[in-house]
Amino acid sequence: QARKRFGQNFLHDPGVIEQIIRAINPRPDDAIVEIGPGLGALTEEILAVNPRLQVVELDRDLIPVLRTKFFNYPEFRIHEADALKFDFSQLMVDRPLRIIGNLPYNISTPLIFHLLAQAGVVQDMHFMLQKEVVQRMAAVPGDNNYGRLGIMTQYFCRVQPLFEVGPGAFRPAPKVDSAIVRLVPHETLPHPARDLTTLQAVVRTAFNARRKTLRKALGGMVSVAQLQSLGINDGLRPENLGLADYVAIADLLVEEKGHVTDAVKEVSDD
Ligand code: SAM
Repeated sequence: QARKRFGQNFLHDPGVIEQIIRAINPRPDDAIVEIGPGLGALTEEILAVNPRLQVVELDRDLIPVLRTKFFNYPEFRIHEADALKFDFSQLMVDRPLRIIGNLPYNISTPLIFHLLAQAGVVQDMHFMLQKEVVQRMAAVPGDNNYGRLGIMTQYFCRVQPLFEVGPGAFRPAPKVDSAIVRLVPHETLPHPARDLTTLQAVVRTAFNARRKTLRKALGGMVSVAQLQSLGINDGLRPENLGLADYVAIADLLVEEKGHVTDAVKEVSDD
Protein backbone atom coordinates (compact mmCIF):
# COMPACT_ATOMS: atom_id res chain seq x y z
CA GLN A 1 0.00 0.00 0.00
CA ALA A 2 3.04 2.23 -0.40
CA ARG A 3 2.28 5.53 -2.13
CA LYS A 4 4.34 6.57 -5.07
CA ARG A 5 3.51 10.24 -4.84
CA PHE A 6 5.01 10.33 -1.34
CA GLY A 7 8.14 8.51 -2.52
CA GLN A 8 7.39 5.60 -0.20
CA ASN A 9 9.88 2.73 -0.17
CA PHE A 10 9.92 1.18 3.26
CA LEU A 11 13.07 -0.34 4.73
CA HIS A 12 12.67 -3.91 5.79
CA ASP A 13 16.19 -5.40 5.83
CA PRO A 14 17.15 -5.68 9.53
CA GLY A 15 20.88 -5.77 8.69
CA VAL A 16 20.68 -2.50 6.76
CA ILE A 17 18.50 -0.88 9.44
CA GLU A 18 21.09 -1.83 12.05
CA GLN A 19 23.92 -0.48 9.91
CA ILE A 20 22.11 2.86 9.56
CA ILE A 21 21.41 3.08 13.28
CA ARG A 22 25.06 2.34 14.03
CA ALA A 23 26.12 5.14 11.66
CA ILE A 24 23.73 7.59 13.35
CA ASN A 25 24.80 6.44 16.81
CA PRO A 26 21.80 7.92 18.67
CA ARG A 27 22.31 8.96 22.31
CA PRO A 28 19.62 9.31 24.97
CA ASP A 29 20.13 13.08 25.27
CA ASP A 30 20.20 13.90 21.56
CA ALA A 31 17.48 16.05 20.00
CA ILE A 32 16.68 13.77 17.08
CA VAL A 33 14.19 14.59 14.32
CA GLU A 34 13.25 12.01 11.72
CA ILE A 35 11.84 13.10 8.35
CA GLY A 36 9.38 10.65 6.77
CA PRO A 37 9.18 7.86 9.39
CA GLY A 38 6.82 5.86 7.18
CA LEU A 39 5.92 2.67 9.00
CA GLY A 40 8.62 3.31 11.58
CA ALA A 41 11.50 1.01 10.59
CA LEU A 42 14.17 3.48 11.79
CA THR A 43 11.83 5.15 14.28
CA GLU A 44 11.50 1.99 16.34
CA GLU A 45 15.26 1.57 16.73
CA ILE A 46 15.84 5.23 17.57
CA LEU A 47 13.02 5.29 20.14
CA ALA A 48 14.59 2.35 21.96
CA VAL A 49 17.52 4.64 22.84
CA ASN A 50 15.94 8.07 22.57
CA PRO A 51 12.27 8.17 23.64
CA ARG A 52 11.99 11.93 22.91
CA LEU A 53 12.35 11.43 19.17
CA GLN A 54 10.23 13.75 16.99
CA VAL A 55 9.10 12.93 13.48
CA VAL A 56 7.74 14.91 10.52
CA GLU A 57 5.42 12.91 8.26
CA LEU A 58 3.26 14.20 5.42
CA ASP A 59 1.09 11.15 4.71
CA ARG A 60 -1.83 11.53 7.08
CA ASP A 61 -2.81 7.88 6.76
CA LEU A 62 0.47 6.88 8.42
CA ILE A 63 -0.09 9.04 11.50
CA PRO A 64 -2.51 6.64 13.28
CA VAL A 65 -0.26 3.72 12.38
CA LEU A 66 2.66 5.44 14.08
CA ARG A 67 0.56 6.49 17.09
CA THR A 68 -0.63 2.93 17.64
CA LYS A 69 2.74 1.34 17.11
CA PHE A 70 4.54 3.68 19.50
CA PHE A 71 1.76 4.37 22.04
CA ASN A 72 4.06 3.35 24.88
CA TYR A 73 6.41 6.29 24.24
CA PRO A 74 4.60 9.29 25.78
CA GLU A 75 7.32 11.76 24.78
CA PHE A 76 7.34 10.69 21.12
CA ARG A 77 6.02 13.56 19.00
CA ILE A 78 4.56 13.37 15.53
CA HIS A 79 4.33 16.49 13.39
CA GLU A 80 1.93 15.99 10.53
CA ALA A 81 3.58 18.36 8.08
CA ASP A 82 5.39 18.85 4.81
CA ALA A 83 9.12 18.72 5.53
CA LEU A 84 9.68 21.05 2.56
CA LYS A 85 7.88 23.83 4.42
CA PHE A 86 8.68 22.80 7.96
CA ASP A 87 10.54 25.23 10.22
CA PHE A 88 12.95 22.89 12.02
CA SER A 89 14.28 25.66 14.26
CA GLN A 90 11.00 25.55 16.23
CA LEU A 91 12.07 22.10 17.48
CA MET A 92 15.33 23.31 18.94
CA VAL A 93 15.12 23.80 22.67
CA ASP A 94 18.49 23.46 24.36
CA ARG A 95 20.72 21.74 21.82
CA PRO A 96 21.21 21.54 18.07
CA LEU A 97 19.19 18.99 16.17
CA ARG A 98 20.25 15.68 14.73
CA ILE A 99 18.14 15.21 11.60
CA ILE A 100 17.77 11.80 10.02
CA GLY A 101 15.63 10.19 7.37
CA ASN A 102 15.20 7.76 4.55
CA LEU A 103 14.06 10.65 2.39
CA PRO A 104 11.41 10.61 -0.32
CA TYR A 105 13.64 10.65 -3.44
CA ASN A 106 11.17 12.61 -5.56
CA ILE A 107 11.74 15.74 -3.47
CA SER A 108 15.27 15.14 -2.19
CA THR A 109 17.03 18.07 -3.86
CA PRO A 110 14.60 20.82 -2.79
CA LEU A 111 14.44 19.20 0.65
CA ILE A 112 18.24 19.27 0.99
CA PHE A 113 18.29 22.97 0.02
CA HIS A 114 15.53 23.66 2.56
CA LEU A 115 17.52 21.87 5.27
CA LEU A 116 20.83 23.54 4.38
CA ALA A 117 19.16 26.90 4.96
CA GLN A 118 18.52 25.73 8.54
CA ALA A 119 22.01 24.33 9.13
CA GLY A 120 22.46 26.83 11.96
CA VAL A 121 20.27 24.76 14.30
CA VAL A 122 21.70 21.41 13.24
CA GLN A 123 24.38 19.21 14.81
CA ASP A 124 24.42 16.66 12.01
CA MET A 125 22.21 14.96 9.41
CA HIS A 126 22.10 11.36 8.19
CA PHE A 127 20.11 10.65 5.07
CA MET A 128 19.33 7.80 2.77
CA LEU A 129 19.26 9.19 -0.75
CA GLN A 130 19.54 8.00 -4.30
CA LYS A 131 23.21 7.06 -4.77
CA GLU A 132 23.71 9.62 -7.54
CA VAL A 133 22.45 12.40 -5.29
CA VAL A 134 25.04 11.50 -2.64
CA GLN A 135 27.72 11.46 -5.35
CA ARG A 136 26.64 14.92 -6.51
CA MET A 137 26.76 16.23 -2.94
CA ALA A 138 30.32 14.99 -2.49
CA ALA A 139 31.57 15.93 -5.99
CA VAL A 140 34.63 18.16 -6.38
CA PRO A 141 35.73 20.42 -9.27
CA GLY A 142 36.36 18.39 -12.42
CA ASP A 143 33.92 15.59 -11.55
CA ASN A 144 31.22 15.40 -14.19
CA ASN A 145 28.49 15.41 -11.54
CA TYR A 146 29.94 18.49 -9.81
CA GLY A 147 27.44 21.33 -9.66
CA ARG A 148 25.01 23.40 -7.66
CA LEU A 149 24.04 20.68 -5.19
CA GLY A 150 27.66 19.85 -4.31
CA ILE A 151 28.77 23.46 -4.06
CA MET A 152 25.88 24.58 -1.86
CA THR A 153 26.01 21.46 0.33
CA GLN A 154 29.74 21.90 0.86
CA TYR A 155 29.25 25.61 1.53
CA PHE A 156 27.34 24.66 4.68
CA CYS A 157 28.50 21.14 5.55
CA ARG A 158 31.21 18.56 5.55
CA VAL A 159 29.90 15.76 3.33
CA GLN A 160 30.68 12.17 4.23
CA PRO A 161 29.26 9.42 2.01
CA LEU A 162 29.01 6.34 4.25
CA PHE A 163 27.77 3.24 2.42
CA GLU A 164 25.54 2.04 -0.37
CA VAL A 165 22.24 0.22 -0.04
CA GLY A 166 20.76 -1.92 -2.80
CA PRO A 167 17.08 -1.87 -3.88
CA GLY A 168 16.41 -5.20 -2.13
CA ALA A 169 16.51 -3.55 1.30
CA PHE A 170 13.19 -1.78 0.59
CA ARG A 171 9.57 -2.66 -0.07
CA PRO A 172 8.66 -1.92 -2.73
CA ALA A 173 12.17 -2.04 -4.22
CA PRO A 174 13.11 1.30 -5.83
CA LYS A 175 14.54 1.30 -9.35
CA VAL A 176 17.72 3.01 -8.18
CA ASP A 177 20.63 2.34 -5.86
CA SER A 178 20.75 4.24 -2.59
CA ALA A 179 23.44 5.51 -0.27
CA ILE A 180 23.72 6.88 3.24
CA VAL A 181 25.36 10.26 3.68
CA ARG A 182 26.38 12.19 6.79
CA LEU A 183 26.32 15.99 6.67
CA VAL A 184 28.01 17.94 9.44
CA PRO A 185 27.46 21.72 9.36
CA HIS A 186 30.74 23.64 9.53
CA GLU A 187 31.28 25.37 12.86
CA THR A 188 32.56 28.38 10.94
CA LEU A 189 31.93 28.57 7.22
CA PRO A 190 35.21 27.99 5.35
CA HIS A 191 34.21 30.46 2.61
CA PRO A 192 31.47 32.75 3.90
CA ALA A 193 29.79 34.79 1.18
CA ARG A 194 28.77 38.40 1.78
CA ASP A 195 25.36 37.58 0.45
CA LEU A 196 24.04 34.03 0.10
CA THR A 197 21.39 34.91 -2.49
CA THR A 198 24.03 36.37 -4.76
CA LEU A 199 26.21 33.27 -4.38
CA GLN A 200 23.23 31.08 -5.26
CA ALA A 201 22.44 33.20 -8.30
CA VAL A 202 26.04 32.99 -9.55
CA VAL A 203 26.24 29.22 -9.07
CA ARG A 204 22.85 28.62 -10.66
CA THR A 205 23.68 30.81 -13.65
CA ALA A 206 27.07 29.15 -14.13
CA PHE A 207 25.68 25.61 -14.11
CA ASN A 208 22.78 26.49 -16.37
CA ALA A 209 25.51 26.49 -19.01
CA ARG A 210 27.94 24.01 -17.53
CA ARG A 211 29.53 23.11 -20.86
CA LYS A 212 30.26 26.68 -21.88
CA THR A 213 33.26 28.73 -20.88
CA LEU A 214 32.90 30.99 -17.86
CA ARG A 215 33.06 33.99 -20.18
CA LYS A 216 29.85 32.80 -21.85
CA ALA A 217 28.16 31.09 -18.92
CA LEU A 218 28.51 34.13 -16.66
CA GLY A 219 28.54 36.71 -19.45
CA GLY A 220 25.30 38.34 -18.34
CA MET A 221 26.64 38.83 -14.84
CA VAL A 222 30.40 39.27 -14.75
CA SER A 223 32.83 40.77 -17.22
CA VAL A 224 36.05 39.16 -18.40
CA ALA A 225 37.93 41.98 -16.67
CA GLN A 226 36.19 41.19 -13.40
CA LEU A 227 37.05 37.50 -13.67
CA GLN A 228 40.65 38.41 -14.45
CA SER A 229 40.81 40.77 -11.49
CA LEU A 230 40.06 37.71 -9.34
CA GLY A 231 42.74 35.68 -11.09
CA ILE A 232 40.10 33.44 -12.67
CA ASN A 233 40.74 32.33 -16.26
CA ASP A 234 37.56 33.13 -18.24
CA GLY A 235 38.27 30.23 -20.60
CA LEU A 236 37.63 27.68 -17.84
CA ARG A 237 34.28 25.93 -17.50
CA PRO A 238 31.93 26.23 -14.53
CA GLU A 239 32.87 22.72 -13.42
CA ASN A 240 36.51 23.78 -12.95
CA LEU A 241 35.86 26.41 -10.28
CA GLY A 242 35.86 25.64 -6.58
CA LEU A 243 33.59 27.03 -3.90
CA ALA A 244 36.15 29.73 -2.99
CA ASP A 245 36.09 31.01 -6.61
CA TYR A 246 32.29 31.21 -6.68
CA VAL A 247 32.30 33.06 -3.38
CA ALA A 248 34.92 35.47 -4.74
CA ILE A 249 32.79 36.19 -7.83
CA ALA A 250 29.65 36.68 -5.73
CA ASP A 251 31.46 38.98 -3.28
CA LEU A 252 32.82 41.09 -6.13
CA LEU A 253 29.30 41.51 -7.52
CA VAL A 254 27.97 42.54 -4.12
CA GLU A 255 30.80 45.02 -3.74
CA GLU A 256 30.20 46.59 -7.14
CA LYS A 257 26.46 46.38 -7.64
CA GLY A 258 24.88 45.52 -4.35
CA HIS A 259 23.00 42.26 -3.95
CA VAL A 260 22.29 40.27 -7.07
CA THR A 261 19.17 38.19 -6.90
CA ASP A 262 17.66 35.31 -8.83
CA ALA A 263 15.90 37.95 -10.93
CA VAL A 264 19.16 38.31 -12.86
CA LYS A 265 18.66 37.09 -16.39
CA GLU A 266 19.97 33.55 -16.66
CA VAL A 267 22.05 32.47 -19.61
CA SER A 268 20.52 29.38 -21.15
CA ASP A 269 22.44 26.25 -22.06
CA ASP A 270 21.53 26.10 -25.73
N1 SAM B 1 11.56 5.96 7.02
C1 SAM B 1 10.72 4.95 6.40
C2 SAM B 1 11.52 3.70 6.10
O1 SAM B 1 12.76 3.84 6.02
O2 SAM B 1 10.95 2.66 5.93
C3 SAM B 1 10.01 5.49 5.16
C4 SAM B 1 10.88 6.07 4.07
S1 SAM B 1 10.03 6.51 2.57
C5 SAM B 1 11.39 6.44 1.41
C6 SAM B 1 9.76 8.26 2.65
C7 SAM B 1 8.80 8.75 3.72
O3 SAM B 1 8.70 10.19 3.64
C8 SAM B 1 7.38 8.21 3.59
O4 SAM B 1 6.91 7.85 4.85
C9 SAM B 1 6.58 9.41 3.03
O5 SAM B 1 5.21 9.39 3.37
C10 SAM B 1 7.31 10.57 3.69
N2 SAM B 1 7.18 11.84 2.97
C11 SAM B 1 7.04 12.04 1.63
N3 SAM B 1 7.03 13.36 1.34
C12 SAM B 1 7.17 14.01 2.53
C13 SAM B 1 7.22 15.39 2.90
N4 SAM B 1 7.13 16.36 1.98
N5 SAM B 1 7.34 15.70 4.21
C14 SAM B 1 7.45 14.74 5.15
N6 SAM B 1 7.41 13.42 4.86
C15 SAM B 1 7.27 13.05 3.57
